[in-house]
Amino acid sequence: MRLLLLLALLVSLSEAKLTVAVSYPYIASIAKTIGGDKLTVETLAQGSWDPHFVVPKPSLIGRLRSADLIIINGADLESGWLPPLLTRASNGNLNNPANVLDLSKKVKLIDIPTDTGRAGGDVHADGNPHFHLDPHNIPVLAEAITLFLSQKDPANAPLYRGNLAAFKSLWSTNLKRWDSTMAPLRGTSVIQYHPVFNYFLRAYGLKSLATIEPLAGIPPSSGHTMKLIGIIAAEKPLCIMHDVYHSTKTGEFLHDKTGIKLLLMPHDVGSLETIDTISALFDALTKRLQ
Ligand SMILES: [Zn+2]
Repeated sequence: MRLLLLLALLVSLSEAKLTVAVSYPYIASIAKTIGGDKLTVETLAQGSWDPHFVVPKPSLIGRLRSADLIIINGADLESGWLPPLLTRASNGNLNNPANVLDLSKKVKLIDIPTDTGRAGGDVHADGNPHFHLDPHNIPVLAEAITLFLSQKDPANAPLYRGNLAAFKSLWSTNLKRWDSTMAPLRGTSVIQYHPVFNYFLRAYGLKSLATIEPLAGIPPSSGHTMKLIGIIAAEKPLCIMHDVYHSTKTGEFLHDKTGIKLLLMPHDVGSLETIDTISALFDALTKRLQ
């Protein structure tokens, strides 16, 4: 009887699923695609929240306590909110650097300030951390996640690699669709609230003419808003690509003064109700600009 119990315990241990905590929903979407039913994913931030300023609520601590691994965006995006949560969760697994995957190390960052002043603003001092909004970066991130999971769970590595291959094939079909949707917009310019869409714009040859924030993380000022009215009148940008988490008050004022279109644009899975996967995110971004 004891032997049977021991065997049952060993079988259940060998089938124990990995639990991975992730900071943002887009990472969860990729991790679930690669991990399938072999992975439990605990997501910290919601897609409708400002990714820079997640409120470190106690409910998020519980999601870190059971995790074996953690995957973060990095490039300082979590630096204001994740460290206090990790301290309070006191999960030894997550204090081991070998159990942490920092996705920012796998891609090339843009908008790196060239001086030592505040040109990057308060929140982009090391470059723009919103790299997941270039759809060409997604397969790179999916590969990094596959490698990470395969190292931690070699028994399921063939399954993870199979899921990656299927995902990459689907993604290359998606990229062709988004390329053709976006092609007519090449060369046009837009205004943003925060430079969250810079990677997306760069991927499709659009220009970010100005931001409603004078610098990343700095709220709008009346002087800067007046300057924007002049820029919009002179350059006639396509629209304001406004994120879902900042107040649209200044955007609406600019719309009233200049007639510029004000579009609410998702930046992550869950930013809007209909965006339930990472491909739905890019479908929405590309369609809303038309
Ligand atoms: Zn930002």
